[in-house]
Formats: sequence, C-alpha cells, structure tokens
Amino acid sequence: MSTLESLGWSDFVQTWTDGSPLEPARVVSQQRGLLHVRTASGPSPALLRGNLLDDPPVVGDWVVVRPVGDQVLIERRLPRRTVIQRRRVGGGVPQVVAANVDCVGVVTSMDVDFNPRRLERYLAVVRGAGCEARIVLSKADRVDDPGPFVTALSDPSVVVSAHTGLGMDALRDWIGTRTVALLGSSGVGKSSLINALLGAEVRDTGAVSDTDGRGQHTTTSRDLLLLPGGGCIIDTPGMREVGLSGEADPDEAFADIAALATSCTYRDCEHLSEPGCAVREAVDRGELDEARIHAYHKLVRELAFERRREDKRAMSEQKRQWAKKIKAVQRMKRDRGW
Ligand code: GDP
Ligand code: ZN
Repeated sequence: MSTLESLGWSDFVQTWTDGSPLEPARVVSQQRGLLHVRTASGPSPALLRGNLLDDPPVVGDWVVVRPVGDQVLIERRLPRRTVIQRRRVGGGVPQVVAANVDCVGVVTSMDVDFNPRRLERYLAVVRGAGCEARIVLSKADRVDDPGPFVTALSDPSVVVSAHTGLGMDALRDWIGTRTVALLGSSGVGKSSLINALLGAEVRDTGAVSDTDGRGQHTTTSRDLLLLPGGGCIIDTPGMREVGLSGEADPDEAFADIAALATSCTYRDCEHLSEPGCAVREAVDRGELDEARIHAYHKLVRELAFERRREDKRAMSEQKRQWAKKIKAVQRMKRDRGW
C-alpha cells in the first residue's frame, strides 16, 4: 500500500490534478493554529495561505501543498466527504472538528454508561454526518455475558476488550483501510482501544511521540494516527467533546413523552411527582413504560450536567477576553500617558 493510500487517499477526491510541485497531503494535527500534514514523503509542519485563515483545514482534511523549505504551504483544501462538528457554546456556527471520517465507533461500556436510547441518538447524529456507525461494547472482560447487552440494541454491535484483545480483530476488520473515530463518554475505554489498535501506548501519555520514516522522534501531537494494518484513527480533543452537549434534545429523543407533556398541568412540569402530570398518569395507566421515563430523566440530567460544564467553560473564556481587553486599555492609557 502506498503512503497516500494508507492515509486514506481514495477516489472521492475528484478535483486533484497532478501539478508538480504541488502534492496532496492530509492534515494530521492542529494545535492553536499550528497545522501538521503528512504527504507521501512523510510528516511536515504546514503554513496556511492567507485566504484559508478564516476557514482553516481541520484534522482529516485533504489539502494541496507546496513545499517551502522544510515546511509546506497549504494552497487549498479539497472537498470534504464528511464533517464531524460540534455546536459552539451559546449557539452560532457549528465548529468543524474533523473531516473525512468514514466510520465512527460509538463506544459504551456495559455498566452505568449503557443507555440504548442515548446510543441511538449518537448513531443518528453520526449517520446524519454521512459516516458509517457501529456500536462498540467495551470492557467485555468485566461482564459474565455480553449477550443481553447485544440483544438490547436494535443496531449491530461489536463486543471488545482492550485488555484481553477479545473482539479486536473484528473491530480491525470493520475499520479496514478506512478513517475511523471513536466517540463515547469519558472512561468507557476509548484511549485503551486506540492503544490496542495502534499496538502502542500512544494515548495515555498525554504528549504523543511519533516516529517518522527516518526513525526521528517528533514530540508533536498527532491527532490522525496511522493504524499498522491500514486505515487511520482520528482522535482530537475536539472530537472528544462531540458528546451529548448541544446535540441531544430529550424532547426529540422522547417524542412520546414530549407529546404527553403538553397535557401536564404545569408548563415546566418535570414529570416527577407534580399534580396533574399527564406523563405520570400515562405510566400509571400502563401506557408508557416506566423504563422510558427513567431514561428520559437520565438524559435530562446528563444534558444539564453537560450544559453546566459548557457554561463554566464559556464563563472563563469570557473572563479571559475581558481581562485581555482591560489590559489593552490599561496599556493604551499608559502609552498615551492618560
Ligand atoms: P477513555 O476515557 O474513554 O479514553 O477511557 P480509558 O481508555 O482511559 O479507560 C478508562 C478506564 O477503563 C481505565 O482505567 C482503563 O484501564 C479501563 N479499561 C479500558 N479498557 C478496558 C478493558 O477492556 N477492560 C477493563 N477491565 N478495563 C478497561
Ligand atoms: Zn408532567
């Protein structure tokens, strides 16, 4: 397999015309505006043409580069086949966190994290983005029998253990030579799976070291990693945040409950023990599954948690922005002797 093929280069990139010294490359990392790409000849830091600054390429993007000394200049971005994005805090244009992901493993462990309806939502979001999706049931060595978990799902799944290696071949077969990403709650074992797929402890160390073709170590973080048997895995911090936040809408996931809720006495009814709650009444009459309302409450709680976390993040970002502005004003005052 050629280097470009192992990076996932495929026919979808129709617009490429060979125009040496230009060559195709794939974006493998981005850190505060600093991009790294990989061309057929190896990894390289990349500069951006000015016209790309507003909408810079992201990890997974195919780009056209021109060698400039020991770096490359990204001339343009090739069309994207898929985009994974997350909404920004407080709305606005969604942020693209990765491009050209072919397939997504939605990882869940077979314990408190296991929530079929939440998984369905993840699958819908991922498929809506044009990616193939598969549920990955992790830490199989922790349960006596994964059977009930598999049958609880209406979608096919793959049962794996990063620790014993169970199911890892099936996961590799599914990925093939494609570009994969793993989504799922923190702690479900994504890093361990990535390390198992790579056959190296890459993802636990925090700082990632990468050995290029010449055996040199670079300490640059690589968010797109080549898998030994072919295929790539994308794992960027942004990707990890493509969680429930801003994506899930309990009223959409639980349309039956939302419909009943319009008949509750109180408009802001939480369907816990309020008088005149049409949802509870439906449960009492046996028309609504008790498990479904539990799942609904769980989703609402998870979303509230995510939202608080995002609010906190937004607040500290705002504080930082204000501190910057105040400093700038102080500097200006000092400079002008006000
Ligand atoms: P992440 O947050 O999704 O990346 O999860 P990690 O890969 O960091 O794993 C979280 C915890 O689960 C760690 O303590 C791992 O050792 C443990 N873990 C991950 N995979 C397995 C597995 O296959 N079996 C068992 N028993 N534990 C696992
Ligand atoms: Zn109610």
